Amino acid sequence: MKPAAFEYLAPRSVEEAVALLAERGEDAKVIAGGQSLVPMMAFRLATPAALVDLNGVSELDHARVDRDTLVLGATARHRSVQELAGLRERCAMVAEAVGLIGHPPIRNRGTAGGSIAHADPAAEWPALLLALDGEVDAMGPGGRRTIAAADLFRTYFTTALAPDEILTEVRLPLPAGAVGSAFVEVAQRHGDFAVAGAGALMIVADDGSVADARLVLIGVRDTAVRSVAAETILRGASPTDPVLDDATNAIRSEIDPVSDVHGSSAYRRRVAIAVARRAVTLARDRAHAAVA
Ligand SMILES: Cc1cc2nc3c(=O)[nH]c(=O)nc-3n(C[C@H](O)[C@H](O)[C@H](O)COP(=O)(O)OP(=O)(O)OC[C@H]3O[C@@H](n4cnc5c(N)ncnc54)[C@H](O)[C@@H]3O)c2cc1C
Repeated sequence: MKPAAFEYLAPRSVEEAVALLAERGEDAKVIAGGQSLVPMMAFRLATPAALVDLNGVSELDHARVDRDTLVLGATARHRSVQELAGLRERCAMVAEAVGLIGHPPIRNRGTAGGSIAHADPAAEWPALLLALDGEVDAMGPGGRRTIAAADLFRTYFTTALAPDEILTEVRLPLPAGAVGSAFVEVAQRHGDFAVAGAGALMIVADDGSVADARLVLIGVRDTAVRSVAAETILRGASPTDPVLDDATNAIRSEIDPVSDVHGSSAYRRRVAIAVARRAVTLARDRAHAAVA
């Protein structure tokens, strides 16, 4: 099917984009990479009367590591992040997660900002934002505000962004020191959204205990979710295999996967626990290697 007719607007600055969005009201939508919005329009699941295209707003097109923070403008492509020198060494979880997003053409066009604004519970970027305690800037008619990851994701495809706000920048703090991390997922075919996935990060102290641990899951609830239960078990513990088993089994109480054509709820639960265990194991082994 073809999309319904729409007005196309190409602002050159954030202020202009915000003004156009406010003028056109709730019938207008921002378009970034178009990799989620255009298919939805083609299926007439979305019928915006106007599209405000961010691609001509040059101030939104940046991707860099700024000391200990990954800083991404709203139109930074998945591919631009993959091309950042040294990112895999700095935070394997980010590099691995971005490499799992769709196929090369999708990564060439799709943006981190668009993925976060879209808030698919099986998408990788919202999970990275949560795992790294990141934040986003949003600009609307009332000015600029910063939203912490923990306050951003509400439920399926819903965030705290108002309809007249534009996400302008994403910031992800990258922990330093004896840190290891990984992102692991299971998908039915290469490039598909994950049936379930997990990102893990671990920092080990000098005595070998866990100084900090993060575990985030995708595809298992209405939003990506941090496992407080697993992180609590891991922090301060010696990261032995039985402790890792206990931690990843603890996610059971925090996930509520749906059954769909890709798998039953019970299957997703088993996959979630398995990918969480793999991700935490990799994070631990990489943290130990970083100390050595
Ligand atoms: C075949 C296929 C496979 C895919 N597989 C995966 C996958 O495995 N993992 C994954 O995470 N994603 C996957 N995607 C989606 C892809 O990553 C998209 O790029 C991403 O979800 C949306 O980013 P975008 O820049 O394309 O946003 P768009 O499609 O342009 O926009 C998506 C939504 O976000 C809003 N929006 C966009 N930017 C902003 C902004 N700056 N401020 C406010 N609102 C904004 C739009 O109005 C729209 O509602 C896949 C897509 C396809 C077509």
